Amino acid sequence: MQTSIPAARAGRLDAFGTTIFAEMSALALATGSINLGQGFPDTDGPAWVLEAAVQAIRSGRGNQYPPGVGIPELRRAVAAHQQDWYGLVFDPEAEVLITVGATEAIAAAILGLTNPGDEVITFEPYYDSYAACIALAGADRRVVTLRPDGGRWTFDPDELRAAVTSRTRLILLNSPHNPTGTVLTESELAVVAELAREHDLIVVSDEVYEHLVFDGRHIPMATLPGMADRTVTISSAGKTFSVTGWKVGWACARPALLNRVRAVKQFLTYVGSGPFQHAIASALTAPAEYYQSVAAQLQVQRDTLTDGLIALGFTTLVPQATYFATVDVGPGAERWCRALPERAGVVAIPSRVFYDSDIDRYVRFAFCKQVDVLTDALRRLGKLPS
Ligand code: PMP
Ligand code: GLN
Repeated sequence: MQTSIPAARAGRLDAFGTTIFAEMSALALATGSINLGQGFPDTDGPAWVLEAAVQAIRSGRGNQYPPGVGIPELRRAVAAHQQDWYGLVFDPEAEVLITVGATEAIAAAILGLTNPGDEVITFEPYYDSYAACIALAGADRRVVTLRPDGGRWTFDPDELRAAVTSRTRLILLNSPHNPTGTVLTESELAVVAELAREHDLIVVSDEVYEHLVFDGRHIPMATLPGMADRTVTISSAGKTFSVTGWKVGWACARPALLNRVRAVKQFLTYVGSGPFQHAIASALTAPAEYYQSVAAQLQVQRDTLTDGLIALGFTTLVPQATYFATVDVGPGAERWCRALPERAGVVAIPSRVFYDSDIDRYVRFAFCKQVDVLTDALRRLGKLPS
């Protein structure tokens, strides 16, 4: 008897194959290359944070479903962190939602706050899940391009203004920014805020790199005048505590917005990361020195990579923040990058995949790796025929 395979019908994600991060990490494994592609540190977070998770499991905290909105200890810790660092006041009962990483918070925010046909503005190069989530929501993406200017990446305010239409519902912002490493200044954020107020838009602000800043200062969008009422602030523990596999994230917003995010979140995963929620609740109480030491250590890694790349003759801007440095290799960067494992034994990410525009000259290298790993990668890159 002939069997037939039903045709797949969900076309919304047809344009999205395997994520570039999975693809390039698999390529690194297959070719034995040094993986400067996917952004994860090659050392784990502090022992006391890891131990807190072990203790939570052993003592039976979080092994069963935690509450849908997250455990109260973590919601209180997130609210206290926002207040201590930025003076932002969120009610842990009604204005903080714990999610499975920032990824889930972003998905739930876009799905919960847009209707099919709405427009979402974001900045390219963009984090890959943004485009996929906008497509899942049936919304339309409009991008504003970040370009190198004065030693850092920024946008043209007029281009942003021109991107707003009568269908615009939401601006999806990311500062500190992956992949460019730019930290938006107060005046850049003010342009976004002014447009949001003028056109009654929501801002979803992805701040997962808030503590990985070397030059400049992270300013949460919600601290700008009038913005606390129209911003969903998203962050997660993965970067700050070097535990990207734990997937503990959160969204903070006024109830009118957060309830919509929660309504979606409950049907995506319902809950997640039980014991890790307990561990992060105590991790967030770390003294300021801990947070500073994470950035200071990473800055050494950034300098190792960017100094090395520049010494080899590569064109790169020194990123102000995050895990990533972008190199301008000229036209054909995607091909160059995909050939790099074979040619040099190094994996990076072709930034082409983060653009809607036909911009193909950039490659993203992650520097959240041990200094000797970075040095080895530089040595390999130095052997490339010019
Ligand atoms: N936003 C940005 C800009 C990211 O780079 C990442 C990935 N590291 C995420 C969101 C996802 O964060 P999480 O691992 O907490 O889901
Ligand atoms: N955020 C990480 C990066 O940009 C990877 C996350 C992922 O693999 N989805 O490299």
